[in-house]
Amino acid sequence: MYRYLVAEPDIGEEELRNVVEAVKSGWISSKGKFIEKFEREFANYIGMKYGVAVSNGTVALHLALAALGIGPGDEVIVPDLTFAATINAVLYTRARPVIVDIHPEYWCMDPDKVEKAITPKTKVIIPVHLYGHPCDMDPIMEIASRNNLYIVEDAAEAHGAEYKGRKVGSFGYISCFSFYGNKIITTGEGGMVLTNDDELAEKIRILRDHGMNPEKRYWHEVIGFNYRMTNLQAAIGVAQLSKIDKFIEKKRRIAKIYAEELSGIPGIIPHPEMPWAKNVYWLYSILIDPNKAKISRDELSKRLEKEGIETRKFFYPLHEMPIYAKYGVYSYPVATTISRQGLNLPSSTKLTEEDVRFIAQKIKEIAFT
Ligand SMILES: *Cc1c(COP(=O)(O)O)cnc(C)c1O
Repeated sequence: MYRYLVAEPDIGEEELRNVVEAVKSGWISSKGKFIEKFEREFANYIGMKYGVAVSNGTVALHLALAALGIGPGDEVIVPDLTFAATINAVLYTRARPVIVDIHPEYWCMDPDKVEKAITPKTKVIIPVHLYGHPCDMDPIMEIASRNNLYIVEDAAEAHGAEYKGRKVGSFGYISCFSFYGNKIITTGEGGMVLTNDDELAEKIRILRDHGMNPEKRYWHEVIGFNYRMTNLQAAIGVAQLSKIDKFIEKKRRIAKIYAEELSGIPGIIPHPEMPWAKNVYWLYSILIDPNKAKISRDELSKRLEKEGIETRKFFYPLHEMPIYAKYGVYSYPVATTISRQGLNLPSSTKLTEEDVRFIAQKIKEIAFT
Protein backbone atom coordinates (compact mmCIF):
# COMPACT_ATOMS: atom_id res chain seq x y z
CA MET A 1 0.00 0.00 0.00
CA TYR A 2 2.81 2.41 0.90
CA ARG A 3 5.52 3.21 -1.62
CA TYR A 4 7.80 4.80 0.96
CA LEU A 5 8.33 3.08 4.28
CA VAL A 6 9.33 4.39 7.69
CA ALA A 7 11.70 1.42 7.99
CA GLU A 8 12.18 -2.02 6.45
CA PRO A 9 14.75 -4.81 6.51
CA ASP A 10 17.58 -4.32 4.02
CA ILE A 11 18.86 -7.82 3.34
CA GLY A 12 20.77 -9.25 0.41
CA GLU A 13 22.91 -12.06 -0.95
CA GLU A 14 25.33 -12.14 2.00
CA GLU A 15 22.53 -12.84 4.46
CA LEU A 16 21.15 -15.55 2.16
CA ARG A 17 24.55 -17.18 1.78
CA ASN A 18 25.10 -17.31 5.55
CA VAL A 19 21.64 -18.72 6.23
CA VAL A 20 22.10 -21.43 3.59
CA GLU A 21 25.44 -22.31 5.15
CA ALA A 22 23.85 -22.51 8.61
CA VAL A 23 20.99 -24.68 7.34
CA LYS A 24 23.33 -27.02 5.48
CA SER A 25 25.57 -27.35 8.54
CA GLY A 26 22.61 -28.64 10.55
CA TRP A 27 23.23 -26.04 13.27
CA ILE A 28 19.84 -24.41 13.05
CA SER A 29 19.11 -24.14 16.77
CA SER A 30 20.92 -21.98 19.29
CA LYS A 31 24.41 -23.44 18.99
CA GLY A 32 26.74 -22.86 16.07
CA LYS A 33 29.50 -20.73 14.71
CA PHE A 34 27.36 -17.74 13.73
CA ILE A 35 26.11 -17.18 17.28
CA GLU A 36 29.61 -16.87 18.69
CA LYS A 37 30.79 -14.81 15.74
CA PHE A 38 27.85 -12.42 15.97
CA GLU A 39 28.28 -12.00 19.73
CA ARG A 40 32.00 -11.36 19.43
CA GLU A 41 31.79 -9.01 16.45
CA PHE A 42 28.83 -6.97 17.70
CA ALA A 43 30.36 -6.53 21.19
CA ASN A 44 33.58 -5.49 19.50
CA TYR A 45 31.74 -3.03 17.24
CA ILE A 46 30.07 -1.33 20.21
CA GLY A 47 33.17 -1.46 22.38
CA MET A 48 32.07 -3.86 25.10
CA LYS A 49 33.87 -7.05 26.11
CA TYR A 50 31.02 -9.57 26.14
CA GLY A 51 27.90 -10.02 24.05
CA VAL A 52 25.08 -12.45 24.79
CA ALA A 53 22.67 -12.91 21.87
CA VAL A 54 19.01 -13.34 22.81
CA SER A 55 15.59 -13.79 21.20
CA ASN A 56 14.64 -10.10 21.09
CA GLY A 57 15.35 -6.68 22.60
CA THR A 58 12.63 -6.93 25.23
CA VAL A 59 14.08 -10.06 26.81
CA ALA A 60 17.53 -8.47 26.57
CA LEU A 61 16.25 -5.78 28.97
CA HIS A 62 14.53 -8.33 31.19
CA LEU A 63 17.67 -10.47 31.34
CA ALA A 64 19.82 -7.43 32.21
CA LEU A 65 17.56 -6.54 35.15
CA ALA A 66 17.24 -10.17 36.26
CA ALA A 67 21.03 -10.61 36.21
CA LEU A 68 21.37 -7.53 38.45
CA GLY A 69 18.95 -9.12 40.90
CA ILE A 70 16.35 -6.38 40.46
CA GLY A 71 13.01 -7.29 42.02
CA PRO A 72 10.19 -6.29 44.36
CA GLY A 73 11.00 -3.22 46.45
CA ASP A 74 13.44 -1.81 43.88
CA GLU A 75 12.85 1.27 41.74
CA VAL A 76 14.00 1.66 38.15
CA ILE A 77 13.98 5.03 36.37
CA VAL A 78 12.68 5.11 32.78
CA PRO A 79 11.85 7.97 30.38
CA ASP A 80 8.23 8.87 29.60
CA LEU A 81 8.77 8.79 25.84
CA THR A 82 9.90 5.31 24.76
CA PHE A 83 8.61 2.04 23.37
CA ALA A 84 6.62 0.10 25.97
CA ALA A 85 9.20 -2.71 26.12
CA THR A 86 11.41 -0.52 28.32
CA ILE A 87 8.85 -0.27 31.11
CA ASN A 88 7.42 -3.77 30.56
CA ALA A 89 10.85 -5.31 31.21
CA VAL A 90 10.92 -3.53 34.58
CA LEU A 91 7.44 -4.80 35.41
CA TYR A 92 8.40 -8.41 34.57
CA THR A 93 10.85 -8.24 37.52
CA ARG A 94 8.13 -6.86 39.84
CA ALA A 95 10.28 -3.83 40.55
CA ARG A 96 8.62 -0.41 40.42
CA PRO A 97 9.22 1.72 37.33
CA VAL A 98 9.55 5.44 37.96
CA ILE A 99 8.79 7.55 34.91
CA VAL A 100 10.69 10.80 34.32
CA ASP A 101 10.22 13.56 31.75
CA ILE A 102 12.43 14.06 28.70
CA HIS A 103 14.67 16.92 27.54
CA PRO A 104 13.01 19.35 25.10
CA GLU A 105 16.06 19.63 22.84
CA TYR A 106 16.89 15.98 22.13
CA TRP A 107 13.82 14.04 23.39
CA CYS A 108 15.67 11.58 25.69
CA MET A 109 15.49 11.41 29.51
CA ASP A 110 16.30 14.69 31.24
CA PRO A 111 19.21 14.20 33.69
CA ASP A 112 17.77 16.85 36.07
CA LYS A 113 14.53 14.89 36.25
CA VAL A 114 16.46 11.69 36.89
CA GLU A 115 18.31 13.32 39.76
CA LYS A 116 15.04 14.46 41.36
CA ALA A 117 13.47 10.98 41.05
CA ILE A 118 16.13 9.17 43.08
CA THR A 119 15.05 7.61 46.37
CA PRO A 120 16.76 5.11 48.69
CA LYS A 121 15.01 2.36 46.70
CA THR A 122 16.39 3.38 43.31
CA LYS A 123 18.67 0.71 41.81
CA VAL A 124 18.80 1.26 38.05
CA ILE A 125 18.54 4.04 35.48
CA ILE A 126 17.51 3.01 31.95
CA PRO A 127 18.52 5.70 29.44
CA VAL A 128 16.80 5.16 26.08
CA HIS A 129 18.58 6.56 23.03
CA LEU A 130 15.40 7.56 21.24
CA TYR A 131 15.00 7.33 17.45
CA GLY A 132 18.79 7.20 17.04
CA HIS A 133 19.82 10.18 19.19
CA PRO A 134 22.00 9.50 22.25
CA CYS A 135 21.11 10.52 25.79
CA ASP A 136 23.30 13.06 27.58
CA MET A 137 25.43 10.39 29.26
CA ASP A 138 27.92 12.45 31.34
CA PRO A 139 25.39 13.77 33.87
CA ILE A 140 23.55 10.43 33.92
CA MET A 141 26.81 8.55 34.62
CA GLU A 142 27.70 11.08 37.30
CA ILE A 143 24.31 10.72 39.01
CA ALA A 144 24.58 6.93 38.85
CA SER A 145 28.06 6.80 40.35
CA ARG A 146 27.24 9.31 43.10
CA ASN A 147 24.16 7.30 44.11
CA ASN A 148 25.59 3.85 43.52
CA LEU A 149 23.13 2.95 40.77
CA TYR A 150 23.42 0.69 37.76
CA ILE A 151 22.93 2.03 34.25
CA VAL A 152 21.23 -0.34 31.82
CA GLU A 153 21.21 1.32 28.41
CA ASP A 154 18.29 0.67 26.10
CA ALA A 155 20.09 1.15 22.79
CA ALA A 156 17.47 -0.70 20.73
CA GLU A 157 17.08 2.31 18.41
CA ALA A 158 20.64 3.56 18.25
CA HIS A 159 23.18 1.02 16.97
CA GLY A 160 26.31 3.00 16.15
CA ALA A 161 25.15 6.32 17.61
CA GLU A 162 27.85 8.19 19.51
CA TYR A 163 28.08 10.37 22.59
CA LYS A 164 31.24 12.53 22.57
CA GLY A 165 32.87 10.16 20.09
CA ARG A 166 32.07 6.96 21.95
CA LYS A 167 29.36 4.51 20.90
CA VAL A 168 26.20 4.25 22.94
CA GLY A 169 25.84 0.83 24.50
CA SER A 170 29.37 1.11 25.88
CA PHE A 171 28.43 3.40 28.80
CA GLY A 172 26.12 1.24 30.89
CA TYR A 173 27.08 -1.52 33.28
CA ILE A 174 24.87 -3.47 30.87
CA SER A 175 23.46 -2.39 27.52
CA CYS A 176 20.70 -3.87 25.41
CA PHE A 177 20.06 -3.90 21.68
CA SER A 178 17.23 -5.11 19.44
CA PHE A 179 17.51 -6.61 15.97
CA TYR A 180 13.82 -6.51 15.11
CA GLY A 181 12.97 -6.21 11.40
CA ASN A 182 12.74 -2.42 11.41
CA LYS A 183 15.88 -1.68 13.46
CA ILE A 184 19.21 -0.41 12.08
CA ILE A 185 20.41 -3.97 11.65
CA THR A 186 18.11 -6.96 11.91
CA THR A 187 18.05 -10.67 12.54
CA GLY A 188 14.27 -10.88 12.03
CA GLU A 189 13.70 -11.09 15.74
CA GLY A 190 16.70 -10.80 18.03
CA GLY A 191 18.59 -8.87 20.64
CA MET A 192 21.87 -8.65 22.50
CA VAL A 193 23.00 -7.95 26.05
CA LEU A 194 26.47 -6.41 26.41
CA THR A 195 28.70 -5.95 29.44
CA ASN A 196 32.37 -5.63 30.36
CA ASP A 197 31.96 -7.71 33.53
CA ASP A 198 32.95 -11.34 32.94
CA GLU A 199 31.07 -12.74 35.95
CA LEU A 200 27.94 -10.86 34.98
CA ALA A 201 28.23 -12.07 31.38
CA GLU A 202 28.39 -15.65 32.65
CA LYS A 203 25.34 -15.06 34.83
CA ILE A 204 23.44 -13.66 31.84
CA ARG A 205 24.40 -16.73 29.75
CA ILE A 206 23.14 -19.06 32.47
CA LEU A 207 19.86 -17.16 32.86
CA ARG A 208 19.39 -17.21 29.08
CA ASP A 209 19.69 -20.99 29.07
CA HIS A 210 17.12 -22.13 31.68
CA GLY A 211 19.42 -21.29 34.59
CA MET A 212 21.29 -24.50 33.90
CA ASN A 213 24.65 -25.05 35.54
CA PRO A 214 27.15 -25.07 32.64
CA GLU A 215 29.40 -27.64 34.34
CA LYS A 216 26.63 -29.88 35.59
CA ARG A 217 24.00 -30.12 32.87
CA TYR A 218 20.33 -30.38 33.94
CA TRP A 219 21.22 -29.07 37.37
CA HIS A 220 19.45 -25.76 38.03
CA GLU A 221 20.38 -23.35 40.80
CA VAL A 222 18.41 -20.33 39.59
CA ILE A 223 15.11 -19.97 37.79
CA GLY A 224 16.20 -19.14 34.28
CA PHE A 225 14.56 -18.53 30.94
CA ASN A 226 14.84 -19.74 27.40
CA TYR A 227 15.89 -16.47 25.77
CA ARG A 228 18.31 -17.91 23.21
CA MET A 229 18.88 -16.69 19.66
CA THR A 230 19.13 -19.25 16.85
CA ASN A 231 22.19 -19.74 14.67
CA LEU A 232 19.97 -18.92 11.66
CA GLN A 233 19.22 -15.48 13.07
CA ALA A 234 22.87 -14.94 13.97
CA ALA A 235 23.81 -15.90 10.40
CA ILE A 236 21.74 -12.97 9.18
CA GLY A 237 23.16 -10.77 11.95
CA VAL A 238 26.77 -11.39 10.93
CA ALA A 239 26.00 -10.29 7.36
CA GLN A 240 24.02 -7.28 8.57
CA LEU A 241 26.83 -6.18 10.89
CA SER A 242 29.25 -6.13 7.96
CA LYS A 243 27.01 -3.47 6.37
CA ILE A 244 26.18 -1.40 9.45
CA ASP A 245 28.45 1.52 8.58
CA LYS A 246 26.85 1.73 5.15
CA PHE A 247 23.36 1.69 6.68
CA ILE A 248 24.27 4.46 9.13
CA GLU A 249 25.84 6.55 6.39
CA LYS A 250 22.62 6.15 4.41
CA LYS A 251 20.44 7.14 7.38
CA ARG A 252 22.58 10.22 7.93
CA ARG A 253 22.40 11.08 4.24
CA ILE A 254 18.59 10.80 4.35
CA ALA A 255 18.56 13.05 7.42
CA LYS A 256 20.73 15.63 5.68
CA ILE A 257 18.38 15.80 2.70
CA TYR A 258 15.29 16.15 4.90
CA ALA A 259 17.00 18.84 6.98
CA GLU A 260 17.98 20.81 3.87
CA GLU A 261 14.59 20.52 2.23
CA LEU A 262 12.46 21.14 5.31
CA SER A 263 14.39 24.00 6.85
CA GLY A 264 12.49 27.24 6.99
CA ILE A 265 8.99 25.81 6.97
CA PRO A 266 7.13 27.62 9.74
CA GLY A 267 6.31 25.30 12.63
CA ILE A 268 8.38 22.34 11.43
CA ILE A 269 11.25 21.46 13.74
CA PRO A 270 13.82 19.06 12.26
CA HIS A 271 15.35 16.07 14.07
CA PRO A 272 18.04 17.44 16.40
CA GLU A 273 21.67 16.47 16.66
CA MET A 274 23.27 17.96 19.74
CA PRO A 275 26.91 19.16 19.47
CA TRP A 276 27.99 16.18 21.59
CA ALA A 277 26.03 13.67 19.56
CA LYS A 278 26.25 11.52 16.49
CA ASN A 279 22.63 10.78 15.67
CA VAL A 280 22.10 7.65 13.55
CA TYR A 281 18.54 8.81 12.72
CA TRP A 282 17.00 5.34 13.08
CA LEU A 283 13.76 7.12 12.21
CA TYR A 284 14.17 10.64 10.89
CA SER A 285 11.61 12.70 12.78
CA ILE A 286 10.08 16.15 12.82
CA LEU A 287 7.99 18.10 15.28
CA ILE A 288 5.03 20.07 14.02
CA ASP A 289 4.21 22.97 16.28
CA PRO A 290 0.45 23.50 16.07
CA ASN A 291 0.80 27.17 17.00
CA LYS A 292 3.06 27.96 14.07
CA ALA A 293 2.39 25.38 11.38
CA LYS A 294 -0.38 25.67 8.81
CA ILE A 295 -1.33 22.05 9.22
CA SER A 296 -1.66 19.70 12.17
CA ARG A 297 0.55 16.67 12.54
CA ASP A 298 -2.34 14.26 12.17
CA GLU A 299 -3.59 16.02 9.05
CA LEU A 300 -0.10 15.98 7.52
CA SER A 301 0.19 12.28 8.26
CA LYS A 302 -3.17 11.59 6.61
CA ARG A 303 -2.33 13.61 3.52
CA LEU A 304 1.03 11.86 3.14
CA GLU A 305 -0.65 8.49 3.45
CA LYS A 306 -2.75 9.37 0.39
CA GLU A 307 0.49 9.90 -1.51
CA GLY A 308 1.76 6.44 -0.53
CA ILE A 309 4.09 7.89 2.08
CA GLU A 310 4.11 6.08 5.40
CA THR A 311 4.66 8.06 8.59
CA ARG A 312 4.43 7.11 12.23
CA LYS A 313 3.26 9.27 15.09
CA PHE A 314 5.57 9.42 18.11
CA PHE A 315 5.05 7.02 20.99
CA TYR A 316 2.35 7.96 23.47
CA PRO A 317 3.79 9.14 26.79
CA LEU A 318 3.88 6.11 29.09
CA HIS A 319 2.20 7.99 31.93
CA GLU A 320 -0.95 8.55 29.83
CA MET A 321 -1.67 4.85 29.36
CA PRO A 322 -3.91 3.47 32.13
CA ILE A 323 -1.74 0.39 32.73
CA TYR A 324 1.31 2.58 33.44
CA ALA A 325 -0.35 5.69 34.87
CA LYS A 326 0.44 4.87 38.49
CA TYR A 327 4.18 4.94 37.74
CA GLY A 328 3.88 8.49 36.47
CA VAL A 329 4.33 10.25 39.80
CA TYR A 330 5.83 13.45 38.39
CA SER A 331 4.68 15.91 35.72
CA TYR A 332 5.50 15.40 32.06
CA PRO A 333 4.94 18.62 30.12
CA VAL A 334 7.81 18.03 27.68
CA ALA A 335 7.02 14.42 26.77
CA THR A 336 3.33 15.28 26.48
CA THR A 337 3.99 18.12 24.03
CA ILE A 338 6.62 16.31 21.97
CA SER A 339 4.58 13.12 21.77
CA ARG A 340 1.69 15.06 20.22
CA GLN A 341 3.92 16.96 17.79
CA GLY A 342 6.29 14.25 16.65
CA LEU A 343 6.18 12.38 13.37
CA ASN A 344 8.63 9.75 12.08
CA LEU A 345 9.22 10.05 8.34
CA PRO A 346 10.27 7.37 5.84
CA SER A 347 13.83 6.43 6.82
CA SER A 348 14.31 3.10 5.07
CA THR A 349 17.86 2.54 3.82
CA LYS A 350 16.28 1.38 0.57
CA LEU A 351 15.00 4.87 -0.26
CA THR A 352 16.90 6.68 -3.00
CA GLU A 353 17.92 10.32 -2.66
CA GLU A 354 15.23 11.18 -5.21
CA ASP A 355 12.65 9.39 -3.05
CA VAL A 356 13.63 11.47 -0.02
CA ARG A 357 13.50 14.70 -2.02
CA PHE A 358 10.10 13.70 -3.38
CA ILE A 359 8.77 13.05 0.14
CA ALA A 360 10.20 16.33 1.44
CA GLN A 361 8.65 18.13 -1.55
CA LYS A 362 5.25 16.66 -0.70
CA ILE A 363 5.60 17.76 2.91
CA LYS A 364 6.46 21.28 1.75
CA GLU A 365 3.48 21.37 -0.61
CA ILE A 366 1.11 20.19 2.10
CA ALA A 367 2.58 22.34 4.85
CA PHE A 368 2.46 25.53 2.79
CA THR A 369 -1.04 25.19 1.34
C1 LIG B 1 12.45 -2.09 19.61
C2 LIG B 1 12.64 -1.63 20.99
C3 LIG B 1 12.74 -2.52 22.07
C4 LIG B 1 12.39 -3.97 22.01
O1 LIG B 1 12.90 -4.72 21.03
P1 LIG B 1 12.16 -6.01 20.48
O2 LIG B 1 13.30 -6.70 19.79
O3 LIG B 1 11.10 -5.56 19.56
O4 LIG B 1 11.66 -6.81 21.62
C5 LIG B 1 13.07 -2.01 23.32
N1 LIG B 1 13.23 -0.70 23.52
C6 LIG B 1 13.11 0.19 22.52
C7 LIG B 1 13.33 1.63 22.82
C8 LIG B 1 12.79 -0.24 21.23
O5 LIG B 1 12.63 0.65 20.25
